[in-house]
Amino acid sequence: MRKPVMAGNWKMYKTPAETRAFFEAFVPLVATARECDIVICPPFVDIPAAVAASETSRVAIGGQNIDYRKDGAFTGEISAPMLKAAGADWVIIGHSERRQFFGETDETVCKRTVAALEAGLKPIVCVGELLADRESGNTAKILEAQFSGGIAPLTKDQFQEIVVAYEPVWAIGTGKTATPEIAAEAHQVIRNAMKAKFGSDVRILYGGSVKPDNIKNLMAQQELEGVLVGGASLTPDSFAAIVNF
Ligand code: PEP
Repeated sequence: MRKPVMAGNWKMYKTPAETRAFFEAFVPLVATARECDIVICPPFVDIPAAVAASETSRVAIGGQNIDYRKDGAFTGEISAPMLKAAGADWVIIGHSERRQFFGETDETVCKRTVAALEAGLKPIVCVGELLADRESGNTAKILEAQFSGGIAPLTKDQFQEIVVAYEPVWAIGTGKTATPEIAAEAHQVIRNAMKAKFGSDVRILYGGSVKPDNIKNLMAQQELEGVLVGGASLTPDSFAAIVNF
């Protein structure tokens, strides 16, 4: 089995002072977790505090988004080289909240992924269906379309450097976790698309209401090679329980 990735997405929560307090409590709790990559993605303004507070630990820091341009007159944006220079090593790309509220498309997901790779950041590329897609039996079609537009245009070398997160939109922040079987089935759709296009696959994480009490059952599925956690990554105890499960 490849090393699982246990990643936390803090969304728009926490100040720099709250970030420092989190790491002070969290780092000792995961000191013995060696069999996984641990990543925390705070808001941009917290990144310097997170980088400083995690320096001597195995916890890596990531951003939640980047612009695909290197620099320029793009008020409010942050580029991949800027994020890397601030000390981050990972970045979430195409989170469903970016797609839903900020006009992210499969095409811009692909551009951001390439920009991240060029800057030396490891992208976690998110895909996932809406509730309506699932209810109309279109889950596989949607995942394949997101793969075709967002991931398939990468070169094989680029593809091998990414991690993909399957995040059914109906399970994000709702408390409704996909059953381990539903998650595994969707992962297979994505993995088959990867193999058909690139002849290989990369790690696929699951995200959507992952909590300390469901992590064991989810990770029992071979298909799941880690998790992307929102709400439960905000408190040191609950995220440490997920990492250490
Ligand atoms: C997320 O933000 O990617 C996420 C999965 O959120 P939650 O764990 O809160 O559902």
